[in-house]
Amino acid sequence: MTDTTPATEAAHEAPARAPISRLWAYARQHLRLLIIGGALSFAGGIVGLVQPLIAMDVIDTLSNSESLTRPLLYLGAVVIVGGALSALGPYLMQIAGQDVVLTVRKQLIGRLVRLQVAEVDRLKPGDLVSRLSSDTNLLRTVASTTVIGGVTDSFMILGGIALMAWLDPVLFGTTMAMVVFVTVMMVFILPRIQRATGDSQKALGDMGSLLERVFSAFRTVKASGAEDYEIGRLEAAATTARDKGVKASLWEALAGVAAFLPVNIAFLMVLGVGGARVASGAMEVGTLIGFLLLLFYLMGPINGLVASLSQLQTGLAAIHRVEEVANLDSEAAGSEAAQGEPHMAASGPAQVAFEDVTFRYAEDLPFVHHGVTFASSGRGLTALVGPSGAGKTTVFSLIERFYPATTGRVTVDGVDVRDWPLEDLRGLIGYVEQDAPVLDGSLRENLVMAAQDATEAEIEDVVKTARLTELVEKLPEGLDSRIGYRGTTLSGGERQRVAIARALLRKPRLLLLDEATSQLDAANEASLKQVMLDAAERTNVIVVAHRLSTVTSADQIVVFDAGLVRAVGTHAELVAKDDLYRDLAASQLLTAA
Ligand code: ADP
Ligand code: MG
Repeated sequence: MTDTTPATEAAHEAPARAPISRLWAYARQHLRLLIIGGALSFAGGIVGLVQPLIAMDVIDTLSNSESLTRPLLYLGAVVIVGGALSALGPYLMQIAGQDVVLTVRKQLIGRLVRLQVAEVDRLKPGDLVSRLSSDTNLLRTVASTTVIGGVTDSFMILGGIALMAWLDPVLFGTTMAMVVFVTVMMVFILPRIQRATGDSQKALGDMGSLLERVFSAFRTVKASGAEDYEIGRLEAAATTARDKGVKASLWEALAGVAAFLPVNIAFLMVLGVGGARVASGAMEVGTLIGFLLLLFYLMGPINGLVASLSQLQTGLAAIHRVEEVANLDSEAAGSEAAQGEPHMAASGPAQVAFEDVTFRYAEDLPFVHHGVTFASSGRGLTALVGPSGAGKTTVFSLIERFYPATTGRVTVDGVDVRDWPLEDLRGLIGYVEQDAPVLDGSLRENLVMAAQDATEAEIEDVVKTARLTELVEKLPEGLDSRIGYRGTTLSGGERQRVAIARALLRKPRLLLLDEATSQLDAANEASLKQVMLDAAERTNVIVVAHRLSTVTSADQIVVFDAGLVRAVGTHAELVAKDDLYRDLAASQLLTAA
């Protein structure tokens, strides 16, 4: 891969670390359930401890040859209650964990769908999917059982340490030396677990991106005979994920050893130091045994705590990847200080004007518009023509405010698009992209996404206007037929008409239509032209034209060349006065005629 832009390089940096306060910020919202679940689990554990005591009672009762009924009933009750608590507690904590994941996912979903177009240009959808599904899932355990377990273990360890200090200060000092050692090791190892986990999650994201890439052009992959090539890339990504996962496991194992070894060394040291002190009469044997038992007893919580800390690092790595998305810029809803709101109530064709607009897609990219000026208002058809790469599609992106103009003004109804409430601005525009995207789902879903409150009559109406009636009749389930990922089951012309129907369903005051560069068959082209002219009767239609039949019908033609408007006029005028247009008409445009 040749990632050369700074943006992609930034996305390839080793993941940084996230502070624990971020995890707390998410878990805090579900604290009640976590605490109840934790308390029940704890109670379940206590009840479990009581069980042997009652069993002892049963045996006592037996030897006194009294009736067994009562103690057995007790025992049964304790078993049932203990079992219920031990199931219910963790269950509640898992619910809390799922709730944390849901909170995080909702935040991400809101962010992702509202991202700025410019952000999406540089992001990889597959990786975003992985962050939404896999990284958030890593949070579940951490936000639930890990924290409660860690807290419980910490209390047990602190209690044990206090007891040790009380039992014998000298042995306590010996043990603490080891505790300090463990702590230092952990400070060294734990961040590495987080980093390695981050790398491993990133590798998963990369694999997702590669797979997304394959399916986004599946036919091309097959037609290019690129299956093996793509499989190779995917397998390499899977292998990287494996290697990074192994590395994370290595650090986790080292964390385990770093806790296990010192505790055992402490055991030996306590035995040595304590033994000598017992021999010299400075300490009772009972104290030494008590101390050793305490140390032994603490191994469980210590191992548990280290495991919790490892898991915590995993969760923090996931949080970091999640927050990277949560911190991306989403689209500003638009200026509150819109100059009054006369445009909201306006109806009829919208006016569009470019006033000396310059634009580049990013600061490190060359200018695409070098001072574009033109206007389009009233009913009728304005055609934008010019060589490929001249900046025609970019005009539409600026009208829709997908990107802000660098200098100059783009106005709709005389108001700078930056001052329009975004929803209102886009609400008045119907936009058909160049490759007329169709989304996975039914034909109906593809239409109503643009106007969710459209009535059945309105839908029927746009179906007719966009010349889709025949298609709808042909499909097995009519409007409710699924039309495949990216509309793969439709022809190019059908896709385009679906996109037009969708745009028309918004009852646009301005229709932006980016003609497909590919040739349509004569029938499709004729119906497309008719749809366009019908719309131009009612509203302002601006079309990026690649066909002579479109430009000859246009009321106004704007000729673009290398980011500048070169000439404006009708077909006849331009053929007479502009040589670039004449050439275009002769070659590019005429091919369709
Ligand atoms: P046209 O529609 O006239 O063929 P465009 O407006 O699509 O031209 O593109 C104009 C220039 O802007 C081209 O050089 C293209 O490479 C560049 N460009 C288009 N879209 C982007 C984008 N999202 N990011 C960076 N550059 C872009
Ligand atoms: Mg274009």
